[in-house]
This record gives sequence, C-alpha cells and structure tokens, in this order.
Amino acid sequence: MNSAEVLAALAAALPSDALIVDPDVTRSLSHDEAEWAPVGEPIALIRATSSDQVATTVRICARFGVPVTARGAGTGLSGGANAIEGGVIIALDRLNQIRLIDPLERLAVVQAGVINDELRATAAEQGLWYPPDPASSPWSTIGGNIATNAGGVCCVKYGVTKDYVLALEVVTGTGDLVRLGRVTAKGVAGYDLVALMVGSEGTLGIITEATVRLKPLPAAPRTIVGYFSSTVDAGEAAQAVARRASSRRRWN
Ligand SMILES: Cc1cc2nc3c(=O)[nH]c(=O)nc-3n(C[C@H](O)[C@H](O)[C@H](O)COP(=O)(O)OP(=O)(O)OC[C@H]3O[C@@H](n4cnc5c(N)ncnc54)[C@H](O)[C@@H]3O)c2cc1C
Repeated sequence: MNSAEVLAALAAALPSDALIVDPDVTRSLSHDEAEWAPVGEPIALIRATSSDQVATTVRICARFGVPVTARGAGTGLSGGANAIEGGVIIALDRLNQIRLIDPLERLAVVQAGVINDELRATAAEQGLWYPPDPASSPWSTIGGNIATNAGGVCCVKYGVTKDYVLALEVVTGTGDLVRLGRVTAKGVAGYDLVALMVGSEGTLGIITEATVRLKPLPAAPRTIVGYFSSTVDAGEAAQAVARRASSRRRWN
C-alpha cells in the first residue's frame, strides 16, 4: 500500500475539512482511555459529516487494503478505538443529529455520534426516557454504546443497550450502506442482524444511525442508604429487596 495514493484518493472524494493528516491531531484522537493497549500511527483521521462520507472512506480503504478503525468519543476501556499502524480512523462525532423523537411509537432516530446524555435530555422534554446509562453517558456516543453494548447501574432493572436497539444504518466492510432491523414493536422474521452488530466493537461494520426504543419517563428516583456490618449482610439485604419486589410484581 502506498499511503500517498490512499490520501490522494481520500482527498479527491471528501471535503477538505473531513480529511485530517496533521499528526498532532491524528495522534491525539488515535486511542481511547485504555492506556495499556497498543496504539498504531494512523495515516489519516476522517471526521465524517454524513453516512455517505463514511461509506466512501471505507470503500477507498477497502480498495487499498487499509485498515479502518471507528471512533465515537474514545471513552472505551479496551483499546477498541485505537488506531492500527498505517490505518485510517473514522470519527463519528460530527454525525450528531437527533433526527426524530416519536412519542407515539416511543422511539428515537439518532445519528451515531449523538452523546448519550443529549438523547436522554431531548427525550425527557417529551416525557420519554432512554434507559441505558453507562457512567460515561455525559461523553460517550450512541454508536459507541451500541458497539460495546454499554450498560450502567440501571441494567439490573431495565437492561443494557441491546434491549433498546430496534434498527441500524450500517456501513459494511465493503463500503455499502445498509439498513438492518425494524421500527415496529414486533419484528420476528429473518436473521437478527441488529443483535449481531450490538457489541461488535466496529469489527462488522460502522454504525451511522440508530433507531432506539424509549420508555415513559419514570418518577424521580429516590436513593436510600443502608449501613451493614458485613458484605454478607449487605448482600442478604439486597436479596430481600429483590425478593420483595418480585412478589409485589406478581400480586400488584
Ligand atoms: C469514566 C468512564 C466510565 C465508563 N462507564 C461505563 C459503564 O458504566 N458501562 C459501560 O458499559 N462502559 C463504560 N465505560 C466504557 C465506555 O464509555 C463505553 O464502552 C462506551 O460505550 C464507549 O462509547 P464511545 O462513544 O466513547 O466509543 P469509543 O470508545 O470511541 O469506541 C468503543 C468501541 O466501539 C467502536 N465504535 C465506536 N463508534 C462506533 C460506530 N459508530 N460504529 C461501529 N463501531 C463503533 C470502536 O471502534 C471501539 O471498538 C466507561 C468509560 C469511562 C471512561
């Protein structure tokens, strides 16, 4: 692979502000929060503003055999967003439009670079709630959350990201733009390709848009603090609460 040829092809196909080759910038965005994980030197960073730009970039990289790494906000803790030597990073942070909040169908359509907390705040304005709550929600993107199947403390009661993804727009490894999944409450026919994409950490394709399920906004949570003399006592208290909640669900 001749990197000058790759860069020339990218420059010819993309707007000038989408292609970044300044090593100070590319290096600073070439890794996530996993300081222990190996990082390569990328030849370019693409800051895409459309799904088509993502697809174009992947097509060019595939033609030249250049490895591609997807990057959301770079809050990952496993080095998944780390650049491969001589590769290209595709940053999704500029794909940041919330396209639709639908209170009737209780769903949202968002671009992959939308920040989790921004979706939650916008949904809340319409009395709706997006439950997946990784502790990185003020910074991490919906695309990154889906790619890592992220979940926070609400997962015990409400599940993790996979429980809320209905449909995806994805750029495949060949640079094709495809739509997966459905927007209906029931969708049982065919292979569940959305489930395959969730948690795939950018290895099967690049998510450019997602349709996610919303719930009605719950009442403000109340926090109760309990002090216990041992971890066993604390665990038994948690079990008692869970048992009580289950029996109330059965009879109420
Ligand atoms: C302070 C802190 C708290 C955290 N708390 C939690 C937590 O409670 N629960 C939890 O699950 N995680 C947590 N994490 C880990 C991290 O925030 C999550 O994995 C998050 O989902 C990553 O989102 P991101 O946008 O930063 O993705 P990145 O870090 O940029 O990428 C993560 C992976 O997803 C891939 N990727 C990113 N965007 C796309 C896309 N559009 N299409 C395809 N692949 C893509 C990348 O290639 C990489 O493999 C935490 C991290 C930090 C720093």
